[in-house]
Amino acid sequence: MLKESRYTVVLSGRAMLEESGYPVVRDGGESYAIEEKYGYSAEEIFSSSFFSTRKQQFYDFYRNELLQAVDIPPGKGYYEMARLEESGIFQTIITRRLFHLPSRAGCRNVIELHGSIFRNYCPHCGREYPIEYIRNTDKIPLCQSCGQAVRPDVILFGEMVDNQVITRAATEMQKADVLLVLGTNLKSFLCSQLTGYYEGDKLIVIDEEDHFSNKDADIFWQSRVDDALGEIIIEMERDNE
Ligand SMILES: [Zn+2]
Repeated sequence: MLKESRYTVVLSGRAMLEESGYPVVRDGGESYAIEEKYGYSAEEIFSSSFFSTRKQQFYDFYRNELLQAVDIPPGKGYYEMARLEESGIFQTIITRRLFHLPSRAGCRNVIELHGSIFRNYCPHCGREYPIEYIRNTDKIPLCQSCGQAVRPDVILFGEMVDNQVITRAATEMQKADVLLVLGTNLKSFLCSQLTGYYEGDKLIVIDEEDHFSNKDADIFWQSRVDDALGEIIIEMERDNE
């Protein structure tokens, strides 16, 4: 399917982040620990209303729980994805994850639906700031031009995805004749948000966890994503010999 496809779009999900060793806040133990530590759930803190009223607490959480993680390099799966993109097996990668991992591993055509914590800006004057600007202070980072609080260029809970970004993602989905879902299931937020735009009829899911929605895929490959992509690369190289 991948070999014969004209245009393959990849939806890169949660498990790829976990395979890279990134913390993923899910229901259960970890979210309870967050609530214990900050007095609020991660969803409450990482929201637009919390940001507008309790910036110092927002930034304490943001620095400790999210920015700390960026020192972890992208896992093998992301490099394999970049390799497959370069070889023309994939055309576009779409993710909701904020850590900029596909791009850091060398992927070129990436749509970050929920933005990236590597980009920060002043909502008042638009001036942009690198991630270090947020990391190198334990206060609220303020804009050097106008003194307003700088914010990460990500979608907080309670905010809408930028229309232009959705349009770009939808256009890519409409071009695709193969859809490859990596490290998540078809009922995830990522898939629910986008599969409605897909007009092709070939659907592949690679995920370590089985899920009832996988029966809707043409191929469900139960595996870690990095292992599976590694096997696809070996297959591709064999074909090229
Ligand atoms: Zn400003």
